[in-house]
Amino acid sequence: MSEVSVPFGNLKLNYLQNKTAIDQAIVEVLERGWFILGEAGRQFEEAFAGYCGASFGIGVGSGTEALHLALLASGVKPGDEVITVANTCVPTLSAISFAGAVPVLVDINPETYTMDPEAIEDRITSRTKVILPVHLYGQCADMDPICAIAHRHGLKVVEDCAQAHGARYLGRVAGTMGEAGCYSFYPSKNLGAYGDAGMVVTQSEDIRDIVKMARNYGEKRRYYHSIKGFNSRMDEMQAAILLARLPHLDEANERRRYIASRYNEAFEDLHILSRPLEAANRHHVYHLYVVQVPHRDDFQDHLRKKGVGTLIHYPIPIHRQESYAECRGQGIYLMRTDEQAEKIASLPLYPEMTDEQVDRVISAVVEWARYQT
Ligand SMILES: *Cc1c(COP(=O)(O)O)cnc(C)c1O
Repeated sequence: MSEVSVPFGNLKLNYLQNKTAIDQAIVEVLERGWFILGEAGRQFEEAFAGYCGASFGIGVGSGTEALHLALLASGVKPGDEVITVANTCVPTLSAISFAGAVPVLVDINPETYTMDPEAIEDRITSRTKVILPVHLYGQCADMDPICAIAHRHGLKVVEDCAQAHGARYLGRVAGTMGEAGCYSFYPSKNLGAYGDAGMVVTQSEDIRDIVKMARNYGEKRRYYHSIKGFNSRMDEMQAAILLARLPHLDEANERRRYIASRYNEAFEDLHILSRPLEAANRHHVYHLYVVQVPHRDDFQDHLRKKGVGTLIHYPIPIHRQESYAECRGQGIYLMRTDEQAEKIASLPLYPEMTDEQVDRVISAVVEWARYQT
């Protein structure tokens, strides 16, 4: 067998494949000499909001900031409760804490790994303000029932779309189903910058106006500050890079889906491993390809020896984190989250992978499965 290795990701390749356009975009920003809140930012806000089918896009400094400012703009005040999930990247929670709110965690659907709508209503109290579903691993949460519950209880829905650029639910793009959709353009996301960046997309003029002020010291127009704000702006260099990369997003997502279909097919008969479920009403963009396996250390070890990198997203659910000790008591509501945290593993999946590398991953996994029986 040839000695192709498969690192978990390779961001440099992505730049090299697109080098001319990226270099030119950066040089144009340098030559304009305008670095914050300028032409590239405006263009990218319009282009990405248009891509999502949202009325407005407001560029901010990161995905965490997109969530933070969207929560504030949704009226979240200190002491209010925000319902979300425990199997997510910690920044989802950082944003809730930044807003002074209390995170209330609900369990997941074990097949899609996303928020279980049936678990929500038991956790709603008089202090609940927002439901914050995470479109994890590239697949939307079950939005229709989630939005219906929110509507019934007078709550707002803020979507964490950091892993879901281009994902759809019944034809609607992630971020357009709740009051606000929050994107991260962290370099390894499906649409990544070469630094930090994020965006809030929304149909609401009120949310747009508040996020626009909040990202820029609360300024309504120059030197007039209507609210107490922050410094959370997307810079021109990142906006120009993202603008150059956006036209390739759908093609890159298609490549991700193709690689996922190769994995799905190859692993179909391996009963020891469970494959990710693609819900019928959703368009999955495979930010991550997550399987569940027994003896996970062994699985990772075997793949490592075959040159295949794996990671775990996420090994420690929020209520088991030191920083969120306040949530520990909520563990009783999170049995499925705890159970899957022991078994999940992410395989390499990114558009720049060669077919040979895909084959390599498949043969390493199939070989491991054979040892197990
Ligand atoms: C990456 C990520 C974030 C945070 O984005 P940053 O741009 O790194 O702040 C939030 N939520 C989820 C689910 C993420 O994957």
